[in-house]
Amino acid sequence: MKKKSVLSTLGFILFTIVVLVLIFSAVLVTILNTYKPTVKAYVDDKFIGYFSSEQQFDDVYNSLVTEKKSTSSNVKVYLENEPTFETCYIKDSLLTKQNVYTNLRAEIKTEYTFYDVNVDGENKMRFDTQDDAQKYADNLKNEVAKLNVEVKEEKVAEQAEVTTIERADSILKDIVDRNKPVETPKATVQTTNNYVNTTTTTTNQRASQELANIAAAQGGVWPTVERRINCHYMGYAGHTGTDIGGAVGTPIYAYKSGVVIFAGWGSGYGLHVKIDHGNGIVTYYAHCSQLFVTAGQQVSQGEQIAKIGMTGYTTGPHLHFEIRVNGVPINAYPYIAGK
Ligand SMILES: [Zn+2]
Repeated sequence: MKKKSVLSTLGFILFTIVVLVLIFSAVLVTILNTYKPTVKAYVDDKFIGYFSSEQQFDDVYNSLVTEKKSTSSNVKVYLENEPTFETCYIKDSLLTKQNVYTNLRAEIKTEYTFYDVNVDGENKMRFDTQDDAQKYADNLKNEVAKLNVEVKEEKVAEQAEVTTIERADSILKDIVDRNKPVETPKATVQTTNNYVNTTTTTTNQRASQELANIAAAQGGVWPTVERRINCHYMGYAGHTGTDIGGAVGTPIYAYKSGVVIFAGWGSGYGLHVKIDHGNGIVTYYAHCSQLFVTAGQQVSQGEQIAKIGMTGYTTGPHLHFEIRVNGVPINAYPYIAGK
């Protein structure tokens, strides 16, 4: 009886142990199923989220890199600093309730590379590839040699709009058109005066030569205060005037007395004045900043008619002074030299 009782007590203890172990295991399994070991990820001290492993963080990061790279071929995608990880246990359900993509996307940095075509310091076109930019720069340089065209690499943090080929073509055409030499009528000099004895069409230069002694064009004054010549007549193909350098605001004087036949804006010339001196002689004063005369007005030789500026097509302030004889521009310099 006593022996039996001891046995039954032992049996009870064993049973209890087995039950306790079973309960403990069940609790442990439940806990392990509910709370997962995870890594807490941080970028620049900003909490991004919980990841099952560092590998999973990398997978998310790589998919975001692919996402950004699909927007441009020239983008560098990176994190400012390496991410840091902390091990911890969290409730399983938390893993699915977070916005790791959104959080990490906000920390990812991008750097886009573009190639800009700058013309005389002004940005005109933007391309994804250096080849495209160089092609347009070369075309511009070939068309208008005087232009300062450069391709510059630009790195910007945000995606920016690039110039389409159609748009780039039209910009190029526009720049070339604006810099086209002033159309000079084919020097058809009529025998309407005593100085030219030809009815045939001559070259511009020959006409200039023949007209060089026209008395009517002589006797004027130096048309401004400054005396530095920036660019002579035909200093480049199609340059029909004599450029005299001077600061914006420098006075411009009427070469000779006459009647103002134009005072206003014109493409290329910008603000400009034309004075008719009679006998087919007309003078032009271009790129002004301010005009003091109006069409129809009589002006005296040496009278201030405008101020030097940089309106119209010009890379800097200067007076573009031109003398035309029966509509044909001649080299004005010999007429003003020594004045
Ligand atoms: Zn000029």
